[in-house]
Amino acid sequence: MRPSSVKIGPFTYEVRWDAERAYNTEGQEIPWRKVWGYSNHSHQIIYVSPNVHDNMRRVTFLHELLHCCAFANGVQYHVKLPEEEWVNRTSPHLLLLLQDNPEVREFLFGSPLPNSDDVEIIDNGHTSAPVGAS
Ligand SMILES: [Zn+2]
Repeated sequence: MRPSSVKIGPFTYEVRWDAERAYNTEGQEIPWRKVWGYSNHSHQIIYVSPNVHDNMRRVTFLHELLHCCAFANGVQYHVKLPEEEWVNRTSPHLLLLLQDNPEVREFLFGSPLPNSDDVEIIDNGHTSAPVGAS
């Protein structure tokens, strides 16, 4: 089942899977022939094109989620960051997103991931493998 909303940091985005059009912050149409997904941060809407294969919609949704994680951490679209800095800034929001939105995990991975209580945070900021994960 496709999630209809997703909580990312302090924001809750509506997810529109079947919109005929996406719209940017200024209300201008974003044609599906140019993009497969679009995150409108000011209106907190994630659009996913209905015109691509389900596998591509899943990848596109994850792509937009990463944009939303970056936005939640103050990274603007036009700002170019070194890879390590981007990963450091984005990974905590991605982890919280997956912890806070079980329906997103199930949509992306097809089955629930371990409960966040099963993941141990290690001092260096990295996480251990989930207990009992195969
Ligand atoms: Zn993008």
